[in-house]
Amino acid sequence: MSENFEKLDKTIRKYSLLNAYLHKGKAQPQVVLGKIIGEMPWLRGKAKEILEKVKGVVEEVNKLSVEEQKRILEENWPELLQVKAKPEKKVLPPLPNVEKYPKIVTRFSPNPDCVLHIGSARAIVLSWKYARMYNGEFYLRFEDTDPRYKRPVLEFYDLIREDLLWLGCRWDKEIIQSDRLEIYYEYAEKLLEMGGGYVCTCPPQVFKEKIFACEPCPCRDLPVETQLERWEKMLDGGFGEGEAVVRVKTDLNHPNPAIRDWPALRIIDTKKFPHPRVGDKYRVWPLYNFSCGLDDHLLGITHIIRGKEHLTNEQRQRFLYHYFGWDYPESIHYGRLKITDAVLSKSKIKLGVEEGVYSGYGDPRLATLIALRRRGIAPEAIVELMLEVGVKPVDVTLSWENLYAYNRKIIDPKANRYFFVSNPIKLEVFNVKKPYTAKLHLHPDYPERGFRVFNFQPENEKLVFLVSDSDFNLFKPEKIIRLMGLFNIQVKEVEEKKVKAVFHSEHYEEAKRLHAPLIHYLPDGEGIPTTTIMPNGLTVKGLAENSCKKLKTSEIIQFERFGFVRIEKINQEILAYFSHK
Ligand SMILES: [Zn+2]
Repeated sequence: MSENFEKLDKTIRKYSLLNAYLHKGKAQPQVVLGKIIGEMPWLRGKAKEILEKVKGVVEEVNKLSVEEQKRILEENWPELLQVKAKPEKKVLPPLPNVEKYPKIVTRFSPNPDCVLHIGSARAIVLSWKYARMYNGEFYLRFEDTDPRYKRPVLEFYDLIREDLLWLGCRWDKEIIQSDRLEIYYEYAEKLLEMGGGYVCTCPPQVFKEKIFACEPCPCRDLPVETQLERWEKMLDGGFGEGEAVVRVKTDLNHPNPAIRDWPALRIIDTKKFPHPRVGDKYRVWPLYNFSCGLDDHLLGITHIIRGKEHLTNEQRQRFLYHYFGWDYPESIHYGRLKITDAVLSKSKIKLGVEEGVYSGYGDPRLATLIALRRRGIAPEAIVELMLEVGVKPVDVTLSWENLYAYNRKIIDPKANRYFFVSNPIKLEVFNVKKPYTAKLHLHPDYPERGFRVFNFQPENEKLVFLVSDSDFNLFKPEKIIRLMGLFNIQVKEVEEKKVKAVFHSEHYEEAKRLHAPLIHYLPDGEGIPTTTIMPNGLTVKGLAENSCKKLKTSEIIQFERFGFVRIEKINQEILAYFSHK
């Protein structure tokens, strides 16, 4: 009896310490009691008495410091701390310096000059997830301030919004930079007034030579009044495109010449190159680092999560922050993400679409989110993969198979099974003495979903089937083959486009014993013409079983022994996109 008491006392102490340690040093008696009953269920009837004991122990334990609680736990029950140290689910590493900010704000800031691809998903998913992790906010900011060289396109604003919604990364606020030109002008003027910038009218080549020699150009040291006059001239049309640019004064000896006195605003002839949203209303446009740098501060972004190719941009922007006396947000730079055999360059994607190499932004050869969506890749698969890749600063190379593995887990339980016979060839089976019915599960793991049924009525002991040409090589004279869910046949004659066989036996066990391959088929005369577009852009034509008639657009199914597909269109015929095996 006393041994039991001793055990109970120990258990109370153990769980009180653990609960306290996990909750900033303060244990809750009720929670501790729950743990004890969980471990010693035979004490359930005595819960009231035990709770009194627990309260006493908890009071003592709560007086200890967290360090002390931890030390006792480590000494007596080290396994408890190890178990708890392992997170149950993969979470992202904590963000730096969160305690400095009352609210965590992250952003995703695309230029709407192209659709998004799987590389962009990383910035989206991580920024969104961190905002959610800290109960913060996630902003979508369109960086559309280059109407000439990286021209935004109206359609892409919407497609980007759709992509984010599809990924499940809803944003709390949307900002469009082309609405904010007056703000950028205001700060440009402030910068010129405080001598942090200047209006440079040097021909590019002259400026370049100077800057490479770490020397100021003649404009740099002109008085503020002259700078402001020049600035007015930029705004009111006194200067033409290419004739003047606002530069930020930096360290002329900066080891990276690309950082020295970087350009902040320039003139674009919007009569010739109107902006799709604001037309020719403005002629002075900020360059990336100026508008992005200002906005991150002005919008209260606390954490910037982006690729390490932005490290140089951060160095540039820090000069701006220095002039305005602002603190730079926390920035996290992750490494490059490559996907074997996927084009992740916006310019290459755009060029390919414009030149007709690709059928559009949804071409299955592309890794754009539209293309992935069309191919039946679930957004959850992309989110999970990106969380797994995380914010590692090292470069990561993924294969398509990595994505497919995540996707398969998600779509496999949902996708019902059907037969699709590609480029059908005829299979005649003789000596079939009676009618047969094949009853096949829509999904082997979910029998409650029901069956697809094929009825076969032999004529003169003969049945005719359609089988896939991809199975043609299996047909060798005398070979035994099983028709799934039906019976076993023995091949007799093989001709091009036609195979003759005889009924062999009924049972699956027999097929198993003889190592007979299983194949799928359709009754001759049945089937819906189906075109499947493969990831390489080629098509596979064939017939899908009649029960596919009730499928709906966007449904993801599995053509047995072929792969997962997403139904793109369905009427008298089916158009499907191949996902993966
Ligand atoms: Zn100059």
